[in-house]
Amino acid sequence: MIRFQNIRKVYGTGDHIVKALDDVSLHVPVGEIFGVLGQSGAGKSTLIRCVNLLERPTSGSVIVNGQELTTLDAAGLRKARQQIGIIFQHFNLLRSRTVADNIAFPLEVIGQPKPQRDKRVKELLSLVGLSDKASAYPAQLSGGQKQRVGIARALACEPKVLLSDEATSALDPQTTRSILDLLRDLNRRLGLTVMLITHEMTVVKHICDRVAVLRDGRVIEQGLVDDLVVQP
Ligand code: ADP
Ligand code: ADP
Repeated sequence: MIRFQNIRKVYGTGDHIVKALDDVSLHVPVGEIFGVLGQSGAGKSTLIRCVNLLERPTSGSVIVNGQELTTLDAAGLRKARQQIGIIFQHFNLLRSRTVADNIAFPLEVIGQPKPQRDKRVKELLSLVGLSDKASAYPAQLSGGQKQRVGIARALACEPKVLLSDEATSALDPQTTRSILDLLRDLNRRLGLTVMLITHEMTVVKHICDRVAVLRDGRVIEQGLVDDLVVQP
């Protein structure tokens, strides 16, 4: 579903360059949950931002659902991005909008008419277990509830892929587990392919099928979690 081929990303120019990704190749199979594990500065955030080209690789190719993204024009990229939802560590909700209106936001952007939008938002609220919070504002929600809104918004356009940028790093352990369980449930029920980045081995052990370990911009290990991780 996601294929990275020889991805390099260099920030800066002249004497001040940082090689954030150095020849990264990886493959995320359809329907799996793929974790990228690494310490701070390893290049995880750059890597996940290269999947939807929020960040452009310096070289290499990014193929999502059979389509090479780096050669698309702006209109093509906009369309391709509808297949790729993303959730964030700090949720990135709009504070002046209700839960329902936050979830409706990407549907407004693509011009979906209001009656269809309202119907879809209802479905999404139910999918993430927040049907009773439609009219609440983000400030009235717990961290876990905010992330559920983030997940519903990310799934609004029915993407095939969900990217998670440290989505549980701001949450306590119990809330983290409930969000990870929700992601696993969505992965199974919708056939959603999930790619997440994390600095926590516990996250990888809890839900990932496959993992790549990133260090200094390079993949140092990649494979099935059951093969790579020594269970106690
Ligand atoms: P991680 O998410 O694993 O913490 P990042 O992808 O954020 O890693 O960063 C990888 C490396 O790239 C780090 O050395 C970081 O300082 C550098 N870096 C990230 N973003 C930028 C940027 N916009 N400009 C310059 N250097 C950057
Ligand atoms: P900004 O202008 O502040 O960069 P945008 O107006 O692009 O933000 O988007 C507002 C919020 O909605 C952001 O958090 C963004 O991630 C989210 N968003 C926009 N489009 C989509 C989409 N298609 N799927 C999921 N989230 C989206």
